[in-house]
Amino acid sequence: MKKTYHGSCHCQAVRFVCSIDLDAGTSKCNCSFCGKLRFWKAFIGGDALQILAGADNLTQYQFGSKTITHSFCRTCGVKPFGQGNLEVMGGPFYAVNLSVLDDLSLEELLAAPLEYQDGLHDNWEEAPAEIRHL
Ligand SMILES: [Zn+2]
Repeated sequence: MKKTYHGSCHCQAVRFVCSIDLDAGTSKCNCSFCGKLRFWKAFIGGDALQILAGADNLTQYQFGSKTITHSFCRTCGVKPFGQGNLEVMGGPFYAVNLSVLDDLSLEELLAAPLEYQDGLHDNWEEAPAEIRHL
C-alpha cells in the first residue's frame, strides 16, 4: 500500500515528501557508487516525489553512462535521492534513499521486502555472491 513519507538531509536544508509502496520492495546494490554509500533505496515514479525546500541547495553527480542523476545537499553532503528516465524502469523515476525518511519507522523498514542487485557486474537481475556488506 502506498504511504506518504517525509525526507530530509542532515542539515534540513533539503526537505521532500514522497509516496512509496514499501511492499513493492526495496533494494541494495553493489555497484561502484551504491557500494560506497551503502545506499538502501526504493524506486518510485517520477511524479511521486515533491521537493518542499532546498531544491537550490542540491548539487548533482553523474558517472558512467550518466543515465542516473545523483542529488546531494551541498551543505551536509547527504544524498536524498537519485533520479533518471529509463524505459526499463517505466519512464521517469526516483531512487529514494530510505535512510533519509524521517517518518519511516525501523519496524516498517525491516519488514519491507529487500532485493540485492549485482550492479558491479552489470547483472541487475541477480544478487551478488556476497551481500553481507551492503
Ligand atoms: Zn543538508
